[in-house]
Amino acid sequence: MGFDFLRDDIRAASPVSAAEAEELAAGHYGLEARALPLGSQQDTNFLLVGADEAPLGVLKIANAAFGPDEVDAQDEAADVLAATCSDLRFATALRRSDRRRPILASPEGPRLARVLRYLPGGTLTGPGYLAPDVVAGLGRVAGRVSAALAGFRHPGLDRVLQWDPRYADEVLRRLGAALLDRHKLGRVLDAGGAAWEQVGAVADALPHQCVHLDLTDDNVVRTGRTPDGVIDFGDLTTSWAVAEPAITISSVLHHAGAEPASVLPAVRAFHAVRPLSVEEAQALWPVVVLRAAVIVVSGHFQAAIDGENAYAVDALEHEWRMFEQATAVPTAVMTALIRDALGMAAAPHVVSGGLLSGPVRRLPLGVDADAMDAGAWQDAELADRLAAGCGGGSVATEYGRPRPTGTPPLSPTSPATVPTGVDLWTDADLRAPWAGRVVEAGDGRLVLVGDAAVLTVTGALRPLADQGATVAAAAPLAGTVGGRVHVGVRRVGVPEPPPLVRPEYAAGWRALTADPAPLLGLPPTAFTPDDLLARRAAAFATVQEHYYADPPRIERGWRHFLLSVDGRSYLDMVNNVAAVGHAHPRVEAAAARQLRRLNTNSRFHYAAVVELAERLTALLPDPLDTVFLVNSGSEAVDLALRLALAATGRRDVVAVREAYHGWTYLTDAVSTSVADNPAALTTRPEWVHPVPALDRRAADDPAAAAVAVIDDLAAAGRAPAAFVAEAFFGNAGGIPLPDGYLAAVYAAVRRHGGLAVADEVQVGYGRLGRWFWGFEQQAVVPDVVAVAKAMGNGHPLGAVVTSRAVAERYRTGGYFFSSTGGSPVSCVVGTTVLDVLADEDLQGNAARVGAHLKGRLQALRHPLLAAVHGEGLYLGVELVDGGAPATAATAAVCDRLRELGVIMQPTGDHLNVLKIKPPLCLDREGADFFVDALARVLSEGW
Ligand code: PMP
Repeated sequence: MGFDFLRDDIRAASPVSAAEAEELAAGHYGLEARALPLGSQQDTNFLLVGADEAPLGVLKIANAAFGPDEVDAQDEAADVLAATCSDLRFATALRRSDRRRPILASPEGPRLARVLRYLPGGTLTGPGYLAPDVVAGLGRVAGRVSAALAGFRHPGLDRVLQWDPRYADEVLRRLGAALLDRHKLGRVLDAGGAAWEQVGAVADALPHQCVHLDLTDDNVVRTGRTPDGVIDFGDLTTSWAVAEPAITISSVLHHAGAEPASVLPAVRAFHAVRPLSVEEAQALWPVVVLRAAVIVVSGHFQAAIDGENAYAVDALEHEWRMFEQATAVPTAVMTALIRDALGMAAAPHVVSGGLLSGPVRRLPLGVDADAMDAGAWQDAELADRLAAGCGGGSVATEYGRPRPTGTPPLSPTSPATVPTGVDLWTDADLRAPWAGRVVEAGDGRLVLVGDAAVLTVTGALRPLADQGATVAAAAPLAGTVGGRVHVGVRRVGVPEPPPLVRPEYAAGWRALTADPAPLLGLPPTAFTPDDLLARRAAAFATVQEHYYADPPRIERGWRHFLLSVDGRSYLDMVNNVAAVGHAHPRVEAAAARQLRRLNTNSRFHYAAVVELAERLTALLPDPLDTVFLVNSGSEAVDLALRLALAATGRRDVVAVREAYHGWTYLTDAVSTSVADNPAALTTRPEWVHPVPALDRRAADDPAAAAVAVIDDLAAAGRAPAAFVAEAFFGNAGGIPLPDGYLAAVYAAVRRHGGLAVADEVQVGYGRLGRWFWGFEQQAVVPDVVAVAKAMGNGHPLGAVVTSRAVAERYRTGGYFFSSTGGSPVSCVVGTTVLDVLADEDLQGNAARVGAHLKGRLQALRHPLLAAVHGEGLYLGVELVDGGAPATAATAAVCDRLRELGVIMQPTGDHLNVLKIKPPLCLDREGADFFVDALARVLSEGW
């Protein structure tokens, strides 16, 4: 038998000096090294570094409480793992040829020393944020270790550790007194006691095996993003196998932003490698609670006996946070949530009986309900108002379907939107749906406990049954007093849910509750698994990508907000197409009215097409007076280039590197952004002539370089038909072109008889604030302008505007007809968008809010923040790491921003620029919310 904390005292290790450590390393391992102390709760550890500061190993001097068998077991287990899991790294022991270990005499007794392999990279220690894929990586490592150690046997595993959850109640009993805060101690003992009982209920069915027992953020290392190495086998023992994942996931809970649901990726990943039984799934969260409780009391105990151990003292705060998170949600909910995540959900609890006579109408309140139009979802009183408008009779809401009533438009956490019961408006009396005991009957609250379920009615009611009374089915229970009551049904012996819960926990609460609909004579809510993403993948080509690996399902937009089917509102910082805001009522009304009247092609004679064309030319300087209407930016740029080819009778085109102009054959040919098309640079047709990009890495004098390309082409007898460029460099995050750039390049192309084509698809239409068109910033007038995106606010609409002379020359060589380009519906949409832009002064708003936003972004401080580009509401935040584009960090920042309620995407050839181009109705509050979220992400890390 090895160490037994019930029998043996573990005494604080007496200090070992660096000089002693260095002597040990040199004398016994031949390592000429400097020894740098590392923290440890009970052993003494040193990092050994060579003359060049390179780590040579970790000298570990075990606490005198641990004997040779135990140390042997640890070293052998590491060897077994290294042999079994070749994709992972392990801190195995460096063996002396005689396999003996140095022994250090100490006042506590002999201490075994050895040198362990140093694993490069770092642990996940610290308060930083752990992203879901990193959490999953932790779970996977734990699963691999658990599976590989399942058959490992060794006499040194026979020990009794305080970290072994099988002894958790004993630890709490013995060490609890060290937690001097009585309130905290009460909470720890209560939660620990309850968890102990919950584990006890399945303990007999829990398999035992060899466990590392400390696969935590402190002991799992990574070189890249994904954890792939394990150190510190000091707690190796035999325990419940489920202790392994429980300890791993509990270590996630103290990290920034972590909450109970954050651990689910690790649980799933563990289960995929080492499947958990139903009993293990049942025991998992209670063991997490026990672990957290033990950690808290042990931490206080250690701090009390070894107040100088800074490692132990510093840990107290995050240990308490771990406990708070472990107990933040009822264990029963977490267990049900875990079972659901592992595909082991219990069958739903179905109830029957009658609560009410007479018909009940259903009030739909989902994100897809028409009642949510025009931002009505922000109104917390909406359900009451809608029910009142139903004109009498009984009305009930739906159980389990997220309802965004009162959803805050800006929120860094998901709001509680999922109903655990139904709201009911009725004049009828309520009857007992089943026989039972009325355990509560007061004004505003009545609880009936039956054999199989508990009914809770709260709100505008007066009881008709006495508290304590036993009632038969159909007995009068309560009268309503005009207004709303909330009806909830749950299993017997489970906690009472709040009326609305957050979507992350909905599956957990659903397992504990039942749909009250049958009690109202209504069909229950149908819960079908959401396979929409899989269906999308099956019906769409992979080249049609989607934002985010795990995208929220967005089914509604309003102004600069996007609403997911979970009822969560996201701040939309990327949708430049919805320039006047999502679902603008004037745009919708104009389109709907026109759809009722006429929609046809522009060969018919109607007013809308003329009005839009006139409005567009009025916005452009002379001689841009002739308009072609198409359906997209690609079409617009394509047609713009074809106009130039036809007008000049030439075939060569000069285009700027790293730009994107569209997906048609012609526009794709002039697009060299590798972010959009990785093969862009190698697949250029020979008639396309790229000139240097205009981002931060631009050539010293990009204008001269472009002029030289044009001059050279002309000299070679291939003067270009056109030079095409965005008038403000959008793809790299809204970088203004260098002063005089377009003037010089336009002059060169025109000197040789070519045309200047401005792609205003992204940057035009008021977004830049100071200028309506990007080319105004350069004080030039192009020959051809391509417009789209904002023009239709999401309705497919694009335009090419040029001079009559250029347009007429196209007539001679080209052909143009678009079945829907310039349709009456498109045109009234286009005209209305221009009206809204003007009436709501959205260009002015872009200037004002954009300036505020840019100022706040520029004030952010972080080593990766290299530059804030742009103007108005076209901004780019560039992230650079040691001179190289911080592509991975930018992706991680965008993913975390999404969790915090902000839609943001990377742009630029290296995808290291945050692409900030929200609807132009963004207000200061939204801008501040975004910057605050970004500041938080940068401070939390990834
Ligand atoms: N030009 C530019 C500058 C663009 O950004 C885009 C679209 N991202 C296009 C043209 C093509 O527009 P669309 O997607 O409407 O075809």
